[in-house]
Amino acid sequence: MEIKSGEESVVRVRIAPSPTGDPHVGTAYIALFNYAFAKKNNGKFVLRIEDTDQARSRKESETMIMESLKWLNIQWDEGPDIGGSHGPYRQSERSEIYREHARILLENGSAYRCFCTKERLEKMREEQKKSKQFSGYDGFCRNLPKETIDQYLSENRPYVIRIKLPQQDTISFRDELRGQVEFDCSTLNDQILMKADGYPTYHLANVVDDHLMKISHVIRAEEWISSTPIHILLYKAYGWQPAKFIHMPLLRNADKSKISKRKNPVSLRYYERQGFLPEALINFLALQGWSLPTGEEIFSIDEMIKHFTLDRISLGGPVFDLTKLIRFNGIYMRNLSADDLAKRITEAVIKQKLAQLQDQGYLMTILPLIKDRLRLLSEFDARTHFLYSGALTYSARDLILKGKNLNQTKNMLNKALEMYDAIADWKPGNLDSETRQFSEIVKWATKDLFMVLRIIVTGSTESPPLFESMTVLGKTECLNRLQDAIATLQLE
Ligand code: GLU
Repeated sequence: MEIKSGEESVVRVRIAPSPTGDPHVGTAYIALFNYAFAKKNNGKFVLRIEDTDQARSRKESETMIMESLKWLNIQWDEGPDIGGSHGPYRQSERSEIYREHARILLENGSAYRCFCTKERLEKMREEQKKSKQFSGYDGFCRNLPKETIDQYLSENRPYVIRIKLPQQDTISFRDELRGQVEFDCSTLNDQILMKADGYPTYHLANVVDDHLMKISHVIRAEEWISSTPIHILLYKAYGWQPAKFIHMPLLRNADKSKISKRKNPVSLRYYERQGFLPEALINFLALQGWSLPTGEEIFSIDEMIKHFTLDRISLGGPVFDLTKLIRFNGIYMRNLSADDLAKRITEAVIKQKLAQLQDQGYLMTILPLIKDRLRLLSEFDARTHFLYSGALTYSARDLILKGKNLNQTKNMLNKALEMYDAIADWKPGNLDSETRQFSEIVKWATKDLFMVLRIIVTGSTESPPLFESMTVLGKTECLNRLQDAIATLQLE
């Protein structure tokens, strides 16, 4: 589908991340498709921060999301940092708007106050579990008499506001990629729209903002498709014209499960630190859901924009193949001019060093590991390089020890990945005992096993104590390094 000027209203799309952790590669993937669609259609691309979850939202996370998108050159036209005519763009700054909109729903009967206590809800859930019946809110407060509500309000009882699902069998809506999608209403329930703390939930804030920010196309990940019926009902309750919906296929692990950090590095910061080129990552992400009409795999974002149409999005459940991404990156690296490469290297090194020096807390945790071995201040960098950068310089050959072959090494590492993933308490003692047990299971001498692990984790055959180093690096980073090693072997 291509929007022709004059035929439709202006294209306005958005990315709406929740700032609750490291910026996710899935956010970049969805941002890219929104961005390409906006650019292709002379529209606007909005960045909205969905930070209504008070307990989980973090300012640092918001900053990292913005930095990662900038690193990828996905620039928004309106957003919390640059403003725009439909702001504010941070949901935490829009509380008044949501309160007002919740009130409209209470007044027109599309929502109701629910005074159920935690205890009652727990009991209800237990009973539902026992009888294996419908799970979800049972509608206890749906039809409270007005006097009861007034009385509870005068007693200042806490309440949430729930949507009042209409009594109908199905709800359907059109997904621009899938056609008509139908949901059985018995699988939905009276979801909370506003919490007892007066903050809206995702459903209310998302729909109200999409409408007020005049979002024409909601391009988001497939995982939200089950929320869309509730969103459609909300649009209806307000008498608004819904946006067009496009649910993108999820990025997937090789086993087709939704991409997860157990099986792939998912943090955009990882890709930046590791030294991937943003344009290679963009090209790779674009290919996860879309292709050029010519079938050519290597293309720039400008080429993507030029040829972008929604009907070339494939629903086939793409697999996020790290090996392919590394291969792509190599192609992009080789195509850089010497001047450009020099510039990129300088920028990357300066950025990395600055980040290192700013993180004094981390410095204090790594000092105990190396301080007894240091003789000169200048040795610090070489000894700690691996604790800062994910980009280690071993080759596949270094991982294949004498007496082992490629497949044995790969198999062992795949099992090691699972074993480490299962360790909940990431401490040196635990890592030590689990690794020793593992060496018996896979029948690898500890000497060999430790050597391969040391190269993967530290990039060298000599390093500070392995398990202490792994503890300082943290579980996610160690799993990332194992995945890198497997990908490196895959390229062999
Ligand atoms: N805040 C949601 C997220 O974290 C937004 C989903 C949507 O695009 O509607 O992805």
